[in-house]
Amino acid sequence: MEKEFKYFIEQFADLKILRYELTDFEQFSLEEKLFIYYLSNAAISGRDILWDQNYKHNLVIRKKLEKIYLDYKGDRGSDEFKAFEIYLKRILFANGIHHHYSMDKIMPDFTVDFLNTLLNDCNIQLDEEVKESIFNKDKDNKRVVLDSDKDLIADSANNFYQDVNQLEVEKFYASIDRGDNQRPISVGLNSQLVKEDGEIKEKVWRVGGMYSNAIEQIVFNLEQACKYARTEHQKLVIELLVKYYKTGDLKCFDDYSIEWIKEVDSPIDFINGFIEVYGDSLAYKGSWESIVDYTDVEGTKRADIMSSNAQWFEDNSPVKKEFKKEKVAGVSAKVVNVAVLAGDCYPYTPIGINLPNAEWIRADYGSKSVTIENIMMAYYQSSLTSGMLDEFAYSEEEIERARKWGFLGGGLHTDLHECLGHGSGKLLEGVGQDALKNYHSTIEEARADLFALYYIMDDKLIELGIVPDMDVAKSEYDSYIRNGLMVQLTRIEKGNVLEESHMRNRQIIAKWVYEKGLSDNIIEKKQKDGKTYFVVNDYNALRNLFAELLAEVQRMKSEGDFEAAKSLVEDYGVTFDIELHEEVLIRFKKLNIAPYAGFLNPKYKLLKDGDTIKDVELDYEEDFMSQMLRYGKDFSFLD
Ligand code: ZN
Repeated sequence: MEKEFKYFIEQFADLKILRYELTDFEQFSLEEKLFIYYLSNAAISGRDILWDQNYKHNLVIRKKLEKIYLDYKGDRGSDEFKAFEIYLKRILFANGIHHHYSMDKIMPDFTVDFLNTLLNDCNIQLDEEVKESIFNKDKDNKRVVLDSDKDLIADSANNFYQDVNQLEVEKFYASIDRGDNQRPISVGLNSQLVKEDGEIKEKVWRVGGMYSNAIEQIVFNLEQACKYARTEHQKLVIELLVKYYKTGDLKCFDDYSIEWIKEVDSPIDFINGFIEVYGDSLAYKGSWESIVDYTDVEGTKRADIMSSNAQWFEDNSPVKKEFKKEKVAGVSAKVVNVAVLAGDCYPYTPIGINLPNAEWIRADYGSKSVTIENIMMAYYQSSLTSGMLDEFAYSEEEIERARKWGFLGGGLHTDLHECLGHGSGKLLEGVGQDALKNYHSTIEEARADLFALYYIMDDKLIELGIVPDMDVAKSEYDSYIRNGLMVQLTRIEKGNVLEESHMRNRQIIAKWVYEKGLSDNIIEKKQKDGKTYFVVNDYNALRNLFAELLAEVQRMKSEGDFEAAKSLVEDYGVTFDIELHEEVLIRFKKLNIAPYAGFLNPKYKLLKDGDTIKDVELDYEEDFMSQMLRYGKDFSFLD
């Protein structure tokens, strides 16, 4: 029954589908396995919420297209049907009709006439307005607009707001009571803001409110899981989350988050809620997400060493003293394996997570940070054979260094970024968390990356026994520059600019240090056989430039310097050399690699003897469509 595990499943459009493996799942007791099982059901139960948050017509489009896919009896081998199938797969991957990364509407490669034929043949109705959402390129064409010249709210297609514009939203949230000044609630995080009969109001996502049907399922499974929680404290964490889902009270969410940070002893942990705000141009609304994870013992030893030295890292960073935390509150860092990915983490997933997002909780209680070992391993395994490194690295030496140290370097970067970078620094008195507005996310990511880049080459890491050789840092610097100046451009279509926060951040850093180091030839642009390469000539000098930029970026955040953040992002993070982009696309195309990867979850099966549950088994055999269709059938709770 057990098949050999393999990472790669399939590839279509710009996407590849991988699997991750639940290393050492068998070590768990039946109670622990059941705990994971119910938490995983709680995770998948929220899937439809994200779909609806992303765009108001997403759910109806998915449901009708899935029905066609299942029912259509005509020629399934025709080019048009294949195009239909690819489109369906793409929106399943993106949790809606907008690309998960570029946020642009995904355009189908079949005609509206063909869709009408399919609908007729399957006897399915679909509103004209919804068809227009699919086929009219100009309608609701961008999920998240970050272009300051536009109305960030009215021009964004997401469903966090209805019939309100940016000014109205800003006014509404400026006027709202955030409670205790020292402990402000995350206003707007768990609601849709709408104008009805001229009145602007919030529709809260909670039991009995908006998304109630899905939230009730989440709550049900959390309550089941609670029975198997290992400690009283972990029970308390789950109870607080349930209370928050039942009341929608944001103060309750903060209480939950604080207890969640303190929950570090149990080997199994989870994230479940309205968490990240990247999906909202004004960063109020939390996209629904969940993961379930368990501690990776070996990896966690490494992260423990880092976090127990967190204060040393804070004290010795190149940032100005007044922007540093006098006392870094317990940064807890873990290396974990995921047991399920859901909502905004599925199938496209982060490799590191640091929460909670509320600044005052981070300042007073610290944060919890994880890097995800089994996902990183799956990425790494699939990258070794892709040909990317050989194409974009300049020398044999660079390639060899990357093969030897790339996995460790990437892992350390993520650890430093998540457990130290995001948790470092402080805001000056009176500076609000939203001072940098649409530039907030990019600046925040740049800050964490720079912190990691600065420290990965520090002797301290060798002293702590985390890094065996400075070549680890060199390999990470090579890779960061390669990626920031060239490789990541493979994800951008001709004629487009950079919009996603992490990509903007990476280019800002790479381009800034490249330009600053030009006169000293710190990074050199070279040509070989008509191909462009960027080669680091002086790693120590490069590190000093990272330090300089880190100090400046921290200043922007600490002082809430919107204008400076704006110029940094607009000057370095948006546009790039068009000729180089074309060259990169041509080189990339030859490799035939999908630029984005997503992951399937294992399927959990209860092994029963009569009514008694004997074991929880994992099945890795589902392919992409089977998993998506199963979720659509068994975990769809919204219309
Ligand atoms: Zn980050």
